Amino acid sequence: MSNRTIELSDRLYQYLLDVSLREPPLFKALREETAQMPARLMQISPEQGQFMALLVKLIGARRCIEVGVFTGYSSLAVASALPERGEIVACDVSEEYTAVARRYWKQAGVADRIRLRLGPATDTLQSLLDADEAGRFDFAFIDADKTNYDRYYELVLQLLRPGGLVAIDNVLWHGAVADPDDEDEDTMALRALNDKLHDDTRVDISMLPIGDGLTLARKRETDA
Ligand code: CA
Repeated sequence: MSNRTIELSDRLYQYLLDVSLREPPLFKALREETAQMPARLMQISPEQGQFMALLVKLIGARRCIEVGVFTGYSSLAVASALPERGEIVACDVSEEYTAVARRYWKQAGVADRIRLRLGPATDTLQSLLDADEAGRFDFAFIDADKTNYDRYYELVLQLLRPGGLVAIDNVLWHGAVADPDDEDEDTMALRALNDKLHDDTRVDISMLPIGDGLTLARKRETDA
């Protein structure tokens, strides 16, 4: 026995899914369609989607931001958890991947809650700030090109209200962040952001070993 985070064997992971996953058939269909694509590893795991949907309900989120849509599993999960007039500003650069996402949003009846913005997310986030949207979002999910994570984080933090939450994906980067010999630019970008967040007094944080590692950062009311 130990009090460190448990390692999940295949059998234990399957058990976790068996006793906790409540995945609607449409979500599963999207996951299975995406699993046929070469970039399939960019899709979040179903238990992570369910976890983020729970987070959104816990904080009573209504307005959300997603940086990195891919084929739409996370936005589908979050949008389905939002109240009637909830919305997501969804940023991505791929017409091809988001066409899949749009098809599933429509089938799930949440398409009207998701505003897809194709183009560099830094531009979209900056345009929200320019439109006086600072402090007006409740929840954000960052899961896009790793070398821009720090820029996304800084922009998103301005857009969140105090008490708002940002979830940052892939922070454990299949273990590479802990390998000092790994100097890949994505690895170094994630490592730098992890180090920065550790000392960032603007937020409360927790790093969770779910999926490929997920950091939750809650914007504090005031710097402390
Ligand atoms: Ca990811």
